[in-house]
Amino acid sequence: MTRSGTDYINGLRDGRQVYIDGELVSDVTTHPGFTGVIGTIAELYDFTNDEANRADMTYPSPITGEPVSLSYLIPRSSEDLKRRRIALRKSTERSFGLVGRGPEHVASFLAGWAARSDIFARSGQRYADNITAFYEYARDNDLFCTYAIVPPQIDRSKPAHQQEDRYLYAGVKEEREDGIVISGAQMLATGAVVADYIILSCIVPLVEGDEDYAISVAVPLSAPGLRVLSRRSYASAATSVFDYPLASQFDETDSLVVFDDVFVPWKHVFVYRDRKLVADQWNETPAHLLGNNQAQIRFTAKLDFLVGLASKVTKMNRSDKAPPVKGALGELAAYASLIHGQVYAQENNVEIDERGVAWPARAESFAVMVIQSELYPKMLHMVRDLAGGGIIQLPSSVEDFQNPQSRADLDRYVQSPGVSSVERVKLLKLMWDLTGSEFASRHEQYEMFYAGAPFLVKMRMFQVYDFKRGEDLVDRALAGYDENGLVPARKLALHDLQ
Ligand SMILES: Cc1cc2nc3c(=O)[nH]c(=O)nc-3n(C[C@H](O)[C@H](O)[C@H](O)COP(=O)(O)OP(=O)(O)OC[C@H]3O[C@@H](n4cnc5c(N)ncnc54)[C@H](O)[C@@H]3O)c2cc1C
Repeated sequence: MTRSGTDYINGLRDGRQVYIDGELVSDVTTHPGFTGVIGTIAELYDFTNDEANRADMTYPSPITGEPVSLSYLIPRSSEDLKRRRIALRKSTERSFGLVGRGPEHVASFLAGWAARSDIFARSGQRYADNITAFYEYARDNDLFCTYAIVPPQIDRSKPAHQQEDRYLYAGVKEEREDGIVISGAQMLATGAVVADYIILSCIVPLVEGDEDYAISVAVPLSAPGLRVLSRRSYASAATSVFDYPLASQFDETDSLVVFDDVFVPWKHVFVYRDRKLVADQWNETPAHLLGNNQAQIRFTAKLDFLVGLASKVTKMNRSDKAPPVKGALGELAAYASLIHGQVYAQENNVEIDERGVAWPARAESFAVMVIQSELYPKMLHMVRDLAGGGIIQLPSSVEDFQNPQSRADLDRYVQSPGVSSVERVKLLKLMWDLTGSEFASRHEQYEMFYAGAPFLVKMRMFQVYDFKRGEDLVDRALAGYDENGLVPARKLALHDLQ
């Protein structure tokens, strides 16, 4: 059953240990660094829970028949993926594509894992049963799960088990009859401060000896021994909603998660000390593709927002009729359209596996992961180029409108034809928060890295692309001539054509 925003907020008052600015936060729902994004996610829950949106946003749980979020759907056709896309787009539009790891992201991974629970059974049937049961529990209780799947950057030249201390990277410290004990840390869990559960696993390659780190487990954020160390909050630093409209609402948080002897019962263990399976869960189930399909649907909303903002600012500045500006807007529009097209292609060129599960097309998905890390910084740069100094020549804060003298100057000099000073400043401060603020800079880093380091993503693209398609063409071209010119068969073919 989908839940309300209030249910979600109440669930966060669970004694979790979140640290920020030297403080252990006793209640994240009242801390100024987190209230903005919690409000945004609560509003998203309300949106999905609203009866008026049920048909678009939910489907009946196969177990209870109650409506559950479409982000948990196991797609079985191109139509399913399309239906899912429409729902995911509606939900991400609530935050203009600026909440990357909202509840829908890891829900998509869980759906992909549960769809191919047989892969988990390679390590024993109980692991398949565990992932299925947790997926169903998360789906039917509308949980917000996030994940931490990359170890901290301590010494990248050494594998996990050869780090200075065996329990720097999060791994198994003890096996008990009723479960396992985890010790160590995992880097940069977006949304961990405000989620219900965290999935701890590993997506980076592991070597022999790393078995303790080859795990996949679910841990409630309130688990004893789990500490969440938040990065600096851009929401706390935002002086007002007017000055930082995006940071104040959509700062989804990123954290180091520390597992200080955290106990995990067996029912929440999906992969246990199995290096092959920990890799197979990403590559041999549709989880990674479904999660990234969701991430890219979100990306389309963000790009539309960015392009829309650029268009509105150039119209306000009356530069929109200049041919170079039209060209730049056209180029921005082309990039946004390309990403839309790839998302459509993923659902159109779907692969249906032997279990009847629809996998978004691989090459079309990895292509976006490769391109976005360079495309997004480029697009930001282009939009800043169009904005010029306007995004800097702005009042220090909304307070300057309260002082009669500065207000009079702002009204006279910071305006455009038909656009008041307040309206102009409002639009440009929105643009600064999307393209130049500390919040914006974090987003640039996010789009570059959330799908993995760019060089690794390119290597995955290398693995999934059908090079044979092009190589066959090259072979045909080579077969058509030799040192004596066109080969006879080729001549004949050309003759026949005339
Ligand atoms: C804003 C943000 C949010 C994130 N959210 C999450 C999250 O929610 N959950 C999660 O699990 N992770 C998250 N991540 C982490 C993300 O998955 C990692 O940043 C990503 O996997 C890359 O790992 P890394 O940062 O350790 O970079 P590294 O692997 O250290 O690579 C950094 C750079 O070093 C160079 N480099 C490193 N190794 C090599 C090599 N062998 N060959 C050539 N060049 C190399 C490359 O230039 C590479 O780009 C997030 C990251 C960011 C920036």
